[in-house]
Amino acid sequence: MKLHVVENISGKSSLLVLGLWEDDLLFYRGFSEELNSEIQGCVKSMRCVFHFGDSLVTKVTGKPYTKVMVMGMGKKQDFTLERVRKMMGKIVKSARGLKLFTLEMTIVEMLRGLFSDEELGRAAAEGCELANYDFVKYLSTEKKEKKRLVEEISFGWHGKSSVALERGIGQGKIIASATNFTKDLVNEPASVATPSFVEKVAREVAKNKKLSLSVLNKEELERQGFGAMVGVSRGSAQPPKLLVLKYEPVKSGKCTALVGKGITFDSGGYNLKPTGGIEDMKSDMSGAAAVLATLRACAELGIQRNVIGVMPLCENMIGGCAQKPGDIVKAFNGKTIEIRNTDAEGRLILADALSYTEARYKPEVMVDIATLTGACVIALGYYASGLVSKDINLISGLTIAGQKSGDRVWALPFYEEYQDAMDGTISDLRNMSSKGKGYEAGAIHGGVFLSKFVDKVKWAHIDIAGPAFLMEESDYLQRGGTGAGVRVLTYWLMGM
Ligand SMILES: [Zn+2]
Repeated sequence: MKLHVVENISGKSSLLVLGLWEDDLLFYRGFSEELNSEIQGCVKSMRCVFHFGDSLVTKVTGKPYTKVMVMGMGKKQDFTLERVRKMMGKIVKSARGLKLFTLEMTIVEMLRGLFSDEELGRAAAEGCELANYDFVKYLSTEKKEKKRLVEEISFGWHGKSSVALERGIGQGKIIASATNFTKDLVNEPASVATPSFVEKVAREVAKNKKLSLSVLNKEELERQGFGAMVGVSRGSAQPPKLLVLKYEPVKSGKCTALVGKGITFDSGGYNLKPTGGIEDMKSDMSGAAAVLATLRACAELGIQRNVIGVMPLCENMIGGCAQKPGDIVKAFNGKTIEIRNTDAEGRLILADALSYTEARYKPEVMVDIATLTGACVIALGYYASGLVSKDINLISGLTIAGQKSGDRVWALPFYEEYQDAMDGTISDLRNMSSKGKGYEAGAIHGGVFLSKFVDKVKWAHIDIAGPAFLMEESDYLQRGGTGAGVRVLTYWLMGM
């Protein structure tokens, strides 16, 4: 989609979008009195209150626009950057519903001064691009046509330099495009998106000369002692892979490591998932997909910070060779783990990936991101990811980046009392809690388990199990993969 900033609305697009504050007078700058009075008449006759998101669509006689949309913006003091995204999402989705694919709007200009121009441009571009998406690859041409995308949007921006706004728009486009790329990867069926397929996609991403990819195959993982990860992959015909994507723009600088869970399909293993819990398990690689996309965004944005993305990838299946409950595996750092539940496999592959990343790359900071626990969805639902860390600066940095980007994270308690819940009896650790009934504080105990594979580095864990995959569409997202994690990580790496 093309996004332009224009001094004056041209009248050549098919839909003109005008904003209206709930508590402000009706007047549309730059438009003739005739147009103003016509729209005002229409607005009055509709008796609409114009709360945030209320809208009406009307025709204006004798004007070049096919349609005019008046969008309620609510009260000025309630407006946030997330509302910018939501508003753009509502507009783009409505326009697509109306089959109008070129838009002009005055709304961005109306928001001037509420945020910095750069923040405003970034959020507006993100809202537009994120809403202008559907996974149509497997639809017939006829059905594809019904999901046609908006082609062009012009933001009116009168009488002030648009440099910062356009810079923000450029950033927002890159971040949203990386997020949409994640959605594609997550929405792809698991029979297609195997570990080898994700490797192929990562090779495409690594064609950007600022990035370099290295891959550990099954034999190498076995040889180097990735016992926990290899154990998970044993029931699958698909060989496991560990991808490492590097972005190193700063010579001799320390690096930040992102580690993403990549279970390309999670059947649960012998603790098989029931009907109702298994259908969307292609999404269990959302963490790895988010890491891949974040590295792509870092390179395109030219962020001045060394970042490496580590993606352990495998399937969790059943079969004659599959891991059994009660098995004991040895992880990369030498700790033994009793498999109490084969469905708690994400923490197993992350255990190896985290200790390998710290030992091999010695990062300054390490953040893992994973669709780790159903317990996190029970705790927080779909509007925030769980955050676990002992480092107060990491908690505040990621929380702020989450608030600004709308890809929110919420810190969970990580008290001393939780820390022995994953201790084993006949092994060093077990992959399910040994406390109480075993399922209490599941999202926190998942974090406790991972922390046993982190030695000295500053570390945080983000559980995206809720926001990564939606059952219902939202203002600017769709059903299915959402690309959760890309925005919060990118904003955080940009220093916001
Ligand atoms: Zn599982």
